[in-house]
Amino acid sequence: MKKWITHGKNTVHQVLNGRSNAFLISRGSKHVLVDTGRTSSWKKLNQKLDILTAGNGLEAIVLTHTHFDHVENAAALKEKYHGKIIVQRSEAEYLMRGNTPLPQGTNFLTKFIVTSVEMFKGGGRSLESRYKYRSVDPDIEVDETFCLNDFGIDAHVIHTPGHSYGSLSVVVDDELALVGDTVFGVFGGYVFPPFADDPGVMIESWDKLLKTGSKIFIPGHGGDRSRKELQNAYDIHKNLKKGSG
Ligand SMILES: [Zn+2]
Repeated sequence: MKKWITHGKNTVHQVLNGRSNAFLISRGSKHVLVDTGRTSSWKKLNQKLDILTAGNGLEAIVLTHTHFDHVENAAALKEKYHGKIIVQRSEAEYLMRGNTPLPQGTNFLTKFIVTSVEMFKGGGRSLESRYKYRSVDPDIEVDETFCLNDFGIDAHVIHTPGHSYGSLSVVVDDELALVGDTVFGVFGGYVFPPFADDPGVMIESWDKLLKTGSKIFIPGHGGDRSRKELQNAYDIHKNLKKGSG
């Protein structure tokens, strides 16, 4: 299991990897979970959390956004480990009804997937119903920033919209950032996620992330990205935008 330790002794454990990542930020006996993965990962997630939290439960569960692959276990985790559910305000309602609209594709293949799903919505068991999840009421709705120090860790949440309108990132000790799907970690050095509600706004969120002291950016899918990789991607996309405008 991969882990990172910051200068202020906050440990970030990667508790799920593969299809969707989830992370536990720990400092002493205080624990905050970031994202929850899919129900198919429930057992694996529990095994890790039982060991790492050692009966202390969770102080909070931060959802980087409410797409099904990040929130499917949220309701069950809250029952078992407690902790306040933290979500950005614009996605609170999706979480309460257990259904979040699909984002737009950012390349030809993902655009095709989204369009196909939209087309099938009418007939029988729609593909969309596969993306429903067990609803849960949020305890804290974040606007722009939210400090997690009261939960015993050195970290804060910032609003980094674009992949979804309510995407959040968690900056730990101003040293590393858990960025959900705002940055993608699956293909080579490519950081642009295959789906985004507003790619232009997402590029501005990269700038927001680069303005923190973070040296590493850890995505919701795939492996971590360096500051240099994100800076390069930001510069390229910023110039593209300038060129077309
Ligand atoms: Zn997503």
